[in-house]
Amino acid sequence: MDRIILIKYGELSTKKGNRNYFINTLYNNIKKKLENCDVKITKDRAHMYISFKNEELDTIKNIIDKIFGIHMYHIAHIVNSDEESIKKKVLEISQAKTFSTFKVETKRSDKNFPIHSTEMNNILGTVILKNIPNIKVDVHKPELLLKVEIREKNTFIYSDNYLGSGGYPVGTQPKGMLMLSGGIDSPVAGYLAMKRGVTLEAVYFEAIPHTSLEARNKVIKLTEKLSAYTDKIDLHIINFTPIQEAIYKNCRSDYCITIMRRMMYRIMTMIVKKYNGYVIINGESIGQVASQTLTSMNVINAVTNIPVIRPVACLDKLEIMDIARKIDTLDISILPYEDCCTVFVPKHPVINPKLDTVIKEEAKFAYQEMLEEAVETLNTIVIPTIEKEFSDLL
Ligand code: ATP
Ligand code: MG
Repeated sequence: MDRIILIKYGELSTKKGNRNYFINTLYNNIKKKLENCDVKITKDRAHMYISFKNEELDTIKNIIDKIFGIHMYHIAHIVNSDEESIKKKVLEISQAKTFSTFKVETKRSDKNFPIHSTEMNNILGTVILKNIPNIKVDVHKPELLLKVEIREKNTFIYSDNYLGSGGYPVGTQPKGMLMLSGGIDSPVAGYLAMKRGVTLEAVYFEAIPHTSLEARNKVIKLTEKLSAYTDKIDLHIINFTPIQEAIYKNCRSDYCITIMRRMMYRIMTMIVKKYNGYVIINGESIGQVASQTLTSMNVINAVTNIPVIRPVACLDKLEIMDIARKIDTLDISILPYEDCCTVFVPKHPVINPKLDTVIKEEAKFAYQEMLEEAVETLNTIVIPTIEKEFSDLL
């Protein structure tokens, strides 16, 4: 073993009392995600270390790139903490690189190491200058920045910086229930919520035969993409057909969407309670459509006392799409299958709905039992990250 993955926690390091809880959750998440790789994971207050087999490095990088709570990581060379070994390795690393300016930055965590950091910088810089032609030191903007961290037993030497996903480890917050449609916004909302550590379950409302099985498969595929950021996601599928048909049969057409969304929120509230969740999460974005004006949100939100988190509320569509591209959900989201919202969309949905009108319209049919039936008969699919198991489901 001459290299190691050196993980820095980032925002986690600002947590004081909870720090160990955050670090332990991250440690367990990494361990679980890498259970099929030949690795050894250790941790201390500032870093986590993964020893690995060279042939598995790319696989491991792909996995840890999606683990929240990792701010940055390095592929560091390890040598014994003695001057000769450090000099030899620093030269070897530099000789393998192309650069014209460089800087060595030594950090001496082991204060018993006899040479001070500044002196060590000079020693190592001199070795490089002597052995590689046509290069010079640039302390402000070096092309090659070699970091040398001297610990008690081992010294880490690295020159690369890999950005992690940031955020908090999934599981540091309890369960949030994501309203997941096949659209662009809700997978992004789920990703952003997980980034804050939220444990995610997803709920999809379908209205077969008005919506197709292809539309459902699209949501399953989106859930699968999201599950790469956690270990598994439970996807609850709600049969929304009877409720949706009743709304369109009984209620004023311009209020149908408002009422439909209030019914969804009522069901979400019941599901949050049934599955011990804490919040509803969705992909609403202020002003994007008639049901997402602040007036609409107010009237729709009035049916629940559960907090509704809207991670993309203040983002532009283009900003949301950028994230969707990054998390690889965009291509699935833009597949042209109908959603239960789009099938029944009225020509002129109300932009500023009135609460008393909504209540009058909703009184035209007995919905409570229908809502209970929808929750009782929901189907749950557990979406694993492992490709093989996932394809067995299809
Ligand atoms: P998206 O692109 O996420 O589908 P949208 O722009 O289509 O959003 P709406 O259809 O009004 O907007 O829905 C707003 C939010 O309501 C969605 O982001 C999603 O969280 C939730 N939602 C809408 N339809 C469904 C559905 N069929 N099942 C679950 N959640 C839904
Ligand atoms: Mg939608």
